[in-house]
Amino acid sequence: MVITLKAGTTEKGIEHVVEKIKELGFTPHISHGEERVIIGVIGENAIRSREIFEAMFIVDSVMPISRPYKLVSREFKGEATVVEVKDVKVGGNEVVVMAGPCAVENREQLLEIASQVKEAGAKILRGGAFKPRSSPYSFQGLGEEGLKYLAEVSKITELPVVTEAMDPRQVELVIRYADMVQVGARNMQNFDLLKEVGRSRKPVLLKRGMASTLKEFLMSAEYILSSGNYNVILCERGIRTFEDATRFTLDLSTLSLIKELSHLPVIADPSHATGKRSLVASMANAAIAAGSDGLMIEVHSRPEEALSDGFQSLTPPDFRKLMRRMRSIAKALGRKA
Ligand code: PEP
Ligand code: MN
Repeated sequence: MVITLKAGTTEKGIEHVVEKIKELGFTPHISHGEERVIIGVIGENAIRSREIFEAMFIVDSVMPISRPYKLVSREFKGEATVVEVKDVKVGGNEVVVMAGPCAVENREQLLEIASQVKEAGAKILRGGAFKPRSSPYSFQGLGEEGLKYLAEVSKITELPVVTEAMDPRQVELVIRYADMVQVGARNMQNFDLLKEVGRSRKPVLLKRGMASTLKEFLMSAEYILSSGNYNVILCERGIRTFEDATRFTLDLSTLSLIKELSHLPVIADPSHATGKRSLVASMANAAIAAGSDGLMIEVHSRPEEALSDGFQSLTPPDFRKLMRRMRSIAKALGRKA
């Protein structure tokens, strides 16, 4: 349930409510809104203690949260959450684009692509150092060496960096080098990994599992928030359907629906969703029209030589074109880009 305190409640008042929540065996999650403080009370049958809180004179209202995901829901927090990845704000009025190669291949490749995507208007650099490949014989990523290149190129270009951790044991290493940790589609329900990134305070980019419902997606985000990390950005990256003409099916309606159900920012990844270079720009535009807060786009200077996902990688000139068109759509919708 959610307890809304009266405007002007003092720190001592907040502490009093928090102590009572703990005494009853529940976990409090405090959120400071513009005017009021709201406290989420998480625990089985928490709503049965509703009257205890309603009787407190500093409490304005007590509302149950009907959804299975609590901290992630709009019922818990009405205002949109803005996640800050270094100085880049995701979830506000500005559409934010994250771009870069599928995998970090070497220092020069990364620096070249990073400079080009920055020039075209990308605000965050992506690149995998630990790669979740379908085949054990495919390029698995450079590991820590790749993380070092990401950190170095980030310093040179002043672009914050997002990269994937596939295992809870990699999280500590990844957050040493990166500004945001990616949890990939294949790991959306790796609950130990979700708890581990939840214990950190680094922003997390959580990608939707390819065979996961929206409810399962939001429950995975709930794992991260309930572990204490509220800096979560959701990413719709396509789901498996009977259609095999594209790699996955970009679920556009989910982008709009997430905005209704959750306060968290959501971006779209049309590169992995389509698996086809020719479709990336049109699906990027559609995603922005559907309310996406940003995009993740794979870019490679020589896609035909890419060690992974060359088919779906845009060349830098194509990426520039995508950015130009996407900007005019974003502006028509009253958004900055
Ligand atoms: C990626 O972004 O590098 C990636 C592997 O994507 P996904 O987890 O969505 O397949
Ligand atoms: Mn890829």
